[in-house]
Amino acid sequence: MTRTTITDVTVFDGAGILDGTRDVSFEQGVITEIRSAGTAPAAGPTVDGTGATLLPGLIDAHVHFLRPDELSTLARYGVTTALDMGTWPPPFVSALRAAGTGADIRSSGAPIAGTGGPHARIPGFPADSLVTSPEEARRRVAARVGERVDYIKLIMERPGAGGPDLDTATAAVEAAHAAGLRVVAHASHTAAVALAVRAGADVLTHAPLDAGLDAGLLRALSDGGHVVVPTLTMMRGTARNLGDPALSYDHARDAVIALHRAGATVVAGTDANDAHGVPAAVPHGSSLHDELALLVEAGLSPTEALRSATGVAASAFALHDRGGIRPGLRADLLLVSGAPALDITATRRIRGVWTTGRPVDLG
Ligand SMILES: [Zn+2]
Repeated sequence: MTRTTITDVTVFDGAGILDGTRDVSFEQGVITEIRSAGTAPAAGPTVDGTGATLLPGLIDAHVHFLRPDELSTLARYGVTTALDMGTWPPPFVSALRAAGTGADIRSSGAPIAGTGGPHARIPGFPADSLVTSPEEARRRVAARVGERVDYIKLIMERPGAGGPDLDTATAAVEAAHAAGLRVVAHASHTAAVALAVRAGADVLTHAPLDAGLDAGLLRALSDGGHVVVPTLTMMRGTARNLGDPALSYDHARDAVIALHRAGATVVAGTDANDAHGVPAAVPHGSSLHDELALLVEAGLSPTEALRSATGVAASAFALHDRGGIRPGLRADLLLVSGAPALDITATRRIRGVWTTGRPVDLG
């Protein structure tokens, strides 16, 4: 693959905006050079980046897959990495991993859940993913490790609502950690968040709709090295669709406001899915731009929101080859018109996307 250079472009490097404009070159799928604009003649094809901002390809830290074409849909919206939080069967996940076009994925395989919660009633949910005891939890984690998953997804419910109990959840977390895997806990109720934290889960996903986070939970989530992926897009859709006055999107948004103030690590994720029967349909790709805007509404600066889908997301999930614009990193790139670090809606004005240096057909 020849060397390509994006010229005279403002660069968001995964942490902040670099001063001036730059010429950014990539070759063989990797970023090779970042120079002050115009300081050396570019060899090979160029892309005019005047008036545009170059970002690392975005990371959506919560998606699901039903069809292979969802990978290219993600990429068209600049989402070059997607962290799958529940897709099965394993051969389908393997096919997605090997696709070689569109978004690059990491996967939990099928989530581990209790026998009595809503996930147990999803049509086609694998029965062998349902656990009722620490022993079963350990066996399930071992099975996922055998499928070479990247992390374990654990569905937590409030006590009595059919999810794994504390002992079962703790056994799953300990088995995952012993295998070197993080645990991502689904928790959309404050009591489920509390249980997941007690069990030792590393990443909490969804933001509770039932109430705000109390001071103890807020402290645990911001001091304990936890990562929170609030999926505000899904929580807003869920609150609207359920129409239950006890469940309010305001609680989810307020939780993010409080977590951000407390210094917690917040990572962008959408819960994008095309499945029937989920609380809200969230489209792949475009939803991450909605999520960034909702994170800004919940108090993150536009720069912090961009970090939550690039540099911060990459370090939270140990994706050391991406999430930034530096020589040696994957040439997963998103070129947008305007200044998204000032106006987050500019991420939607997509001029170009590259995955490992290959241009994505924007259609
Ligand atoms: Zn999900």
